[in-house]
Amino acid sequence: MRMNLLEEYARHKAQKPADWFLYVWNALEDNLIKCTGAIFPLLDGKPNFKGKMKPGSRAVVYVIRSDYEIFCRDWESRNDKCYVCEGTGKEWNGWSRDAGVKYKICSKCGGSGKP
Ligand SMILES: [Zn+2]
Repeated sequence: MRMNLLEEYARHKAQKPADWFLYVWNALEDNLIKCTGAIFPLLDGKPNFKGKMKPGSRAVVYVIRSDYEIFCRDWESRNDKCYVCEGTGKEWNGWSRDAGVKYKICSKCGGSGKP
């Protein structure tokens, strides 16, 4: 799962503007993902999550995983890209302090980036 698409879907469900960012997500039982986001001040063009959030901008939405998967497949056909890697061919594979973010070849598209 790429967080950009989950963020896009949660933003859409919460009816928030483009500067609303997801900062916590929890997989719950019963096929639910709890998504919490808010508007933060920008630092170098990216949300500064340690900055003070805009008052009243925090929102929690519950995403039903099967609905999110429908959204992902729709995104895939609209963009002609694999939704797991968002067309990059690379899938997130953990993080370490020494190597930073690690990637592997996308398990869904085999690295082609295509649906
Ligand atoms: Zn892929």
